[in-house]
Amino acid sequence: MPMAIALKARCVFLGAPGAGKGTQAKKVSETASLAHISTGDMLRQEVASGSALGETARSFMDGGKLVPDDVIIGMVQARIQLPDAKSAWILDGFPRTLMQAEALDRSLGSSALTHVVYFAVPEDVLIGRLAGRRSCSKCGAIWHVEHQPTKSKGICDHCSGKLVQRSDDSPEAVVERLKVYRSQTSPLLAYYRDRKVLRELDANRAPAVVFTELLKLMQ
Ligand SMILES: [Zn+2]
Repeated sequence: MPMAIALKARCVFLGAPGAGKGTQAKKVSETASLAHISTGDMLRQEVASGSALGETARSFMDGGKLVPDDVIIGMVQARIQLPDAKSAWILDGFPRTLMQAEALDRSLGSSALTHVVYFAVPEDVLIGRLAGRRSCSKCGAIWHVEHQPTKSKGICDHCSGKLVQRSDDSPEAVVERLKVYRSQTSPLLAYYRDRKVLRELDANRAPAVVFTELLKLMQ
């Protein structure tokens, strides 16, 4: 177990859906006291609460599409003003397009990004990870039919809730998400490489190994 450390980092975790950046962001934020800002989680909360923003977001997410830039940008800008995000944070799932990246740079001004970490994972591995993923309808725990199975099939080990496949993890939605990712997010790698903040991480390894490497990258 690594010791508690304080990282004064303002970073973006980039990577395809299923690359493991959300899991790692959660671990890093707990270890190094950074705010973990997941736009996917924020949007799912809006959808669950039935807010107007949530209803707009739902129509895009169900089809595996990206929620429009202006909606996401406004949500993130408000989030990084909150007290817990004053000095250090990880953005997970944002930016996804060049326009979002440019809007983020403008809103940060002199508090520019310190790191952009790219989680590299081959596409066939991503498809296997996503299509086998199940989540608990009661407590939200994430399982995997092969890599992290529950003791009894379809039932959550923590709360006995029923496991469901998120609509955006269905095979059709997975293929669409990876296609959207390739066309819209890949140019971000070039953008951040030019700005000399990009760090590449081989994320096709055991989570504990990836975590250790990640902390080294972020020091
Ligand atoms: Zn559960």
